[in-house]
Amino acid sequence: GDGDYEDESNEGTEVIPKLPKARMASLRTLYDPIIGNDSPARVADGSDDINDLGSWSRRNRLRRRRDPLDSALVLTFPGPNSFTGQDIVELHCHGSRGVVKGVLDALSSLDMRKITTTAAVPATAASGTKARRMRLRPADPGEFTQRAYANGKLGLVEVEALSDLIVADTSKQRKQALQQFDGRLSRLYQGWRSELVKGLAHAEAVIDFGDDETLSFDDDDEVDSGDDVIAVADDGGMTVWGTIRPRITALREAMDRHLADASRGELLRDGLRIAIVGRPNAGKSSLLNLLAGRDAAIVSSTPGTTRDVVEVILDLGGVRCTLLDTAGVREETDGGARVAARDAHIIVGVVDASDCVRGFDAVKELIDTATSEINEDDDDTLTVAKNVLYVMNKIDLVEDSGHLSRMPPSFGISCATSEGVESFLCSLTEKALSMVSNDDDDGSDPTRSAILSVEGTEGAVITRARHRRHVEAASEALARFEHLSDQGYMALDLAAEELRLAASELGRVTGAIDVENILDVLFADFCIGK
Ligand code: GDP
Ligand code: ZN
Repeated sequence: GDGDYEDESNEGTEVIPKLPKARMASLRTLYDPIIGNDSPARVADGSDDINDLGSWSRRNRLRRRRDPLDSALVLTFPGPNSFTGQDIVELHCHGSRGVVKGVLDALSSLDMRKITTTAAVPATAASGTKARRMRLRPADPGEFTQRAYANGKLGLVEVEALSDLIVADTSKQRKQALQQFDGRLSRLYQGWRSELVKGLAHAEAVIDFGDDETLSFDDDDEVDSGDDVIAVADDGGMTVWGTIRPRITALREAMDRHLADASRGELLRDGLRIAIVGRPNAGKSSLLNLLAGRDAAIVSSTPGTTRDVVEVILDLGGVRCTLLDTAGVREETDGGARVAARDAHIIVGVVDASDCVRGFDAVKELIDTATSEINEDDDDTLTVAKNVLYVMNKIDLVEDSGHLSRMPPSFGISCATSEGVESFLCSLTEKALSMVSNDDDDGSDPTRSAILSVEGTEGAVITRARHRRHVEAASEALARFEHLSDQGYMALDLAAEELRLAASELGRVTGAIDVENILDVLFADFCIGK
């Protein structure tokens, strides 16, 4: 429902006492025909303690109407412990037009004056003489999540995580989204922010104190023209900033380590691109089909529409990988292959083993060209070191495969007999996993100081370019702070301003600050009903 009632109940959530855990756990699961059933309402936990919300959907018009509509499941989630923080009733009815229309009609004919909810019902509604009808409309995409966000049930990072969770293809994507959803990235950034706020409070205190005597500078003596502030305070910032300075440095270093994660979180979220390149007839398509043919691995397959590229999405060890079969390396038209190779995170070079040397040279040249194109121009954050695997295909055709060992790290396979394919797939999966996981340096880094050890933030990882931009900006502000703080009292205000800037950049990630512009985009990504 929409309109007055909804708005009032929203405000009313404040006066609702928090429900005991056990009662919440029972979740008012009411299996009962909502219409045309005269038996009293049953509650899942067997008690007769039907919460008011649970009863209103049955006691009122819906139940009084003698016209049976459906046998349906009714779930009630009293605020403020519901997903949106509001009182929620879910009617799970059968999906036919007749049933849905009947239920919607019944709902819109409810007289809101007669409805008792745990939320405060406005006095005007209770005393009014005219029936107040519930206005119904479909939820906008992401509207429930948006309400949860508006009511402080979810932070911005958690909303993003939820949207990732909804579209997660693989187990690792799901796991990362769930970890994000539980708030560890938000906790980390909030911990960092509170550290910055401490620094700001310190600056305030110094400024207040300094007004009396310490800061009795004559501007003309201390300040050069323009922006160049001459460092006259000779204490190197120690007296002014005290222990704040080293803490901020440690914080910046923590941020920089956090940023130096090789984009693992973003790669896992977006998935890896694996390009298969090679001369015509080397067996690229055969290899792709073989890999895609593994029933368990395939997620979906889309025939390529552009540039002769066929895409298959595979789940390799929980990593979402898009496998691209490029058009063969031809002298004139290898553009598609080169672009695919350039944009790929992993390149698989396929060589016909019976055409070993020539085939290998052609592929290597293409890969080298593609790789050098990246090095020249690319500040794309997702650019990572190229991983190249060479595959010598059709080993069933060569009697003596001794010469294969003279080639760079490669796999001898046969798409015809499947020989070697399993072990190649293992290596490919390992490679993919190594690009998205950080297992080897998890928590074992002794340089992770106390500042980083915000409770419950293990594995907090950047999953979006948006996060990265803000954390980078925060780190840059702190670097400027370190520089300014060397100038002691002279640059106190400027240095404090950098702390404020860093804090607000972190605040933009978690949604504490300035988020209106990204909200619409974010919620529009959600499906209807979530
Ligand atoms: P592409 O042009 O690189 O995609 O090559 P294809 O996958 O279309 O294969 C070209 C030809 O080589 C086809 O006739 C395949 O049946 C054949 N072929 C592919 N892999 C093997 C293999 O391992 N052994 C043998 N004997 N033939 C193969
Ligand atoms: Zn092909």
